[in-house]
Amino acid sequence: TSFGFKEVDKEEKEGMVREVFLKVAPTYDLMNDIMSAGVHRIWKDSIVSKLGVFPGMIHVDVAGGTGDIGFRSLSALRAAETSARDSSFHAPNVGPKPGRIIICDINSHMLVEGKRRAAHLDLTNSTDRQGNRLATINFKEGNAENLPLDDGSVDLYTIVFGLRNVTDTLAALKDARRVLKPGGKLICMEFSSVRNESLRTFYEAYSFGVIPLMGELIAQDERSYQYLVESIRMFPRQVELEEIMREAGFKCVAHENLTGGVVALHSGFRI
Ligand code: SAM
Repeated sequence: TSFGFKEVDKEEKEGMVREVFLKVAPTYDLMNDIMSAGVHRIWKDSIVSKLGVFPGMIHVDVAGGTGDIGFRSLSALRAAETSARDSSFHAPNVGPKPGRIIICDINSHMLVEGKRRAAHLDLTNSTDRQGNRLATINFKEGNAENLPLDDGSVDLYTIVFGLRNVTDTLAALKDARRVLKPGGKLICMEFSSVRNESLRTFYEAYSFGVIPLMGELIAQDERSYQYLVESIRMFPRQVELEEIMREAGFKCVAHENLTGGVVALHSGFRI
């Protein structure tokens, strides 16, 4: 079975996606804020409570771009590890090994931007002022369809506003399952389909009319933003994506809608 972008061939889509994110990398964060009126931050914040962070966790954020999800997860993970350490009788650094966040993206320009932000936010230290080891963050270039990670090596896999850019959705989900440990969790956040008719009318007018225009005005790049909007329209709807997750071998698959289905959060487990 092939899902999404059926009429564009694989190489063409990969080349197109690469070019889009290469061009938008420097203005990517600013554009997100402007186009979603800051709402993407609320969507991304809402994922943190779903991550199920625990001390020593290994989390890969695929299509992690400039680090929005990875940085949120790192803060939650460090907080969990600090409180576990403070409430234990162990001497410093005797407890479990600190966890690790891996931000993986196919586009090195997005990762460069992410590394710059991590340094700026002072997230790159591996010890705190008292000398305690901290969870770390690393950046890795790689394709979601063929991740540079070992089988059964991560506790949590997230992909946020990334899956619709991947050429073969099913292949990416199968590879997600491969890298997860048994019991590991997948979370996907992606634009989805709006049920309510008035909200849908407004949303379509906004995305097809306003977004490419803003792309042109702010980033001087209407075509890239046109692509983003079209890729949203082509992506499988809520229940279709659940089906593809099951086909990839995920269990306990579920989704919840945010903002009336503008965005959906899918989850599943490797059992
Ligand atoms: N997750 C980040 C966020 O929410 O801000 C970035 C989302 S951005 C819309 C999509 C990202 O997917 C880009 O950084 C792009 O380079 C990456 N990407 C596209 N195709 C990919 C693939 N096959 N494998 C890994 N990353 C990919």
